[in-house]
Amino acid sequence: MKNTKAFPEQKQNLPGNEYLMNPEPEIIKENYTGSGKLLGKVAFITGGDSGIGRSVAVHFAREGANVAIVYLKEDKDALKTKELVEKEGQQCLLVSGDLKDENFCKNAIKSCVKTFNKINIIVNNAAVQFPQNELEKITTAQLQKTFETNIYPYFYITKAALPFLNKGDSIINTSSVTAYRGSEHLLDYSSTKGAILTFTRSLSTMLAKKQIRVNGVAPGPIWTPLIVATFDKVSDFGKDNPMGRAGQPSEVGPAYVFLASEDSSYITGQFIHINGGELVGG
Ligand code: NAD
Ligand code: MG
Repeated sequence: MKNTKAFPEQKQNLPGNEYLMNPEPEIIKENYTGSGKLLGKVAFITGGDSGIGRSVAVHFAREGANVAIVYLKEDKDALKTKELVEKEGQQCLLVSGDLKDENFCKNAIKSCVKTFNKINIIVNNAAVQFPQNELEKITTAQLQKTFETNIYPYFYITKAALPFLNKGDSIINTSSVTAYRGSEHLLDYSSTKGAILTFTRSLSTMLAKKQIRVNGVAPGPIWTPLIVATFDKVSDFGKDNPMGRAGQPSEVGPAYVFLASEDSSYITGQFIHINGGELVGG
């Protein structure tokens, strides 16, 4: 992660943009071979313009799925994701808007169904974070924004999508290692990630009878625009974990393929920990 510029201008304008990152994140490993694991499926991915969401979109496309991605306003990043998905021979619907708005969430699901006639996989993944070292610095406005962005849309999107989901379909939620071990500088963010963990477990039981599986991924430090846009010092990012480095989105995407595909047909309510070796339970 040497020679990395933090692009201070991004800090004024959250969330960050992937096209400005240096070095550019790796989205998919060159030697990742698709084998039709998601052939004919339709996936709906929030925050699919960049970082982990972009990696998920491209992996899903390589496995044969069409994707719809939701993003806030990073058109340039979203168009790049679309291009990458199309390069895999699949279609990509771009939906720009604010997930804090329940009506937008309903309409986003509607336009996905209108375009592709169905939805099989939901990936709840969009998030914001605003690091603060002291509780006093977490304003009510920040607290509300963090919860309204990071957890409310998991309810809105899932509720709107549920009528279209059937046996064998799958919901995948992005939590974080911070849900398990806490984070002193991300008190509000880590609390939303804990909520996502419990949401996933509760929803998995609720939907088990319908044979709809609900699982999650809990990443550790991954090199994405969220990091560059919000942390002051990124040169040491991830260096203090057992593997001594940050992960790439390309190391996270395959876990979503596993959880979306039939390979995980007897797994629900569980999390995969992609964090460079930090031991966390559950
Ligand atoms: P990212 O910035 O690339 O992706 C987050 C996306 O969320 C943005 O692209 C943005 O378009 C979208 N978004 C934010 N607010 C929105 C809103 N109001 N409406 C619509 N879209 C909105 O960063 P990322 O690191 O890939 O983050 C993806 C997920 O991974 C997040 O849930 C994050 O908490 C989680 N995560 C990341 C790390 C890491 O180190 N990068 C670690 C643990 C968990
Ligand atoms: Mg983005």
